[in-house]
Amino acid sequence: MTRSYVIKPELGKTYPFISRGKGIYLFDQEGKRYIDGCGGAVTASIGHAVDEVAEAMYAQAKEVSFAYRSHFSSDAVEELGAKLAEWAPGSLNWSFFVSSGSEATETAQKIAIQYWQEKGRPTKNRIISRWMSYHGITMGALSMSGHVLRRKRFVPLLEDYPAITGPYPYRRPEGISLEDYALQCANELETAIKRVGSEQVAAFIAEPIIGASGGAVVPPDGYFQRIREICDQYEVLFIADEVMTGVGRTGKAFGIDHWGVVPDLMTLGKGMSAGYTPMAATIVSDEIIETISKGSGLIMAGHTYSANPQSAAVSLAVLKYVEKHQLIEKSAQQGAYLLSRMEQLAEEIPLIGDTRGLGLLCGMEFVKNKDTKEPFPLSAGVASQVIAKAFEKGLLVYPAIGGLDGVAGDSIILSPPLTITTEEIDELIHILRDAILAVQ
Ligand code: PLP
Repeated sequence: MTRSYVIKPELGKTYPFISRGKGIYLFDQEGKRYIDGCGGAVTASIGHAVDEVAEAMYAQAKEVSFAYRSHFSSDAVEELGAKLAEWAPGSLNWSFFVSSGSEATETAQKIAIQYWQEKGRPTKNRIISRWMSYHGITMGALSMSGHVLRRKRFVPLLEDYPAITGPYPYRRPEGISLEDYALQCANELETAIKRVGSEQVAAFIAEPIIGASGGAVVPPDGYFQRIREICDQYEVLFIADEVMTGVGRTGKAFGIDHWGVVPDLMTLGKGMSAGYTPMAATIVSDEIIETISKGSGLIMAGHTYSANPQSAAVSLAVLKYVEKHQLIEKSAQQGAYLLSRMEQLAEEIPLIGDTRGLGLLCGMEFVKNKDTKEPFPLSAGVASQVIAKAFEKGLLVYPAIGGLDGVAGDSIILSPPLTITTEEIDELIHILRDAILAVQ
């Protein structure tokens, strides 16, 4: 191999070269096989090398791949928009297509602020978010993110948005019921709105299930219902960041569906194109679009690659595949099985403090002391070691590291393709067990 001039995540580290994939497996050029236990970055949700997607990709490429959204729409884009309107709850009928989750959350942020401007309330321009959160790496998205490790170098450049604590049932104060804890956490939003002044607040953004900054942390029932009430009471838009949880990942079409709550805006990415192409969306309610239409009529957002026919055709093929193979239902079933196998591991291995998740978005938190739940210092890098060992043994798992500095943040995420079988889950668990025991 000639010298590499590519900037890789860890400079100086040698990465194996990928050769091909099939279903839940990836193969490198040395012929080593990996179980894609996390769909890359919770992305490859229908498995690798699906023929229907490759065919849709080719068919669209033969016609036209790129046409700029200021000049044209296309059948692929319109069909995708209609499909998402069918999938999304309530009046979330309008899709703005972008190419990454960060662009989707930043577009949501801008549309929320613009909505209030169009209503003649321009001071409503703050976004409240949660400390334990990740909404993307670009400055606007990072401003809304609480992920400590990813923020800390850039803090002076970030918008100083108010942040509240997200629910973290495993680490809730002793003696409080889940029901009361749900309300206590949600009511923090009300306190924050009152402190800032509701006339300054455009929106609240949250991941229905906390991903990269917590490791599949599921909120207690009642939390999002109360959040919705507070948002309505104080005229604050609710943005559900479904970049990780959307498109069947958690066993429902969208993560927020578990609580029957309808947001005002929703963001999708990752599983929306299942890794076959960069594609993401900000989905917006009728009310927001009607307001902006009556006002300036122009949404001030968008990128060169927004709504290109090629990505739309690919994404549409992915959504049709999810429907045809009932992958949302499969995610619920197989997720329950995966979680039960993770719980068995937790009973056996003291290093595992908590296992959690919904559908095929599952998390495992490592602790120094299982009884006291004392976390390891981040410098111990236990989750990183497990990830490295698993990789060595042919299993890919995703980090949820450094989200909460010194409090926790030493977790992994298991999020295999929604097509995974029971036997494949057994194989995954077998390798994971070996990897954790090798670290312990
Ligand atoms: N929002 C959530 C909930 C995410 O998990 C991520 C990525 O992990 C993003 C936004 C950013 O997406 P992207 O990395 O595609 O920009």
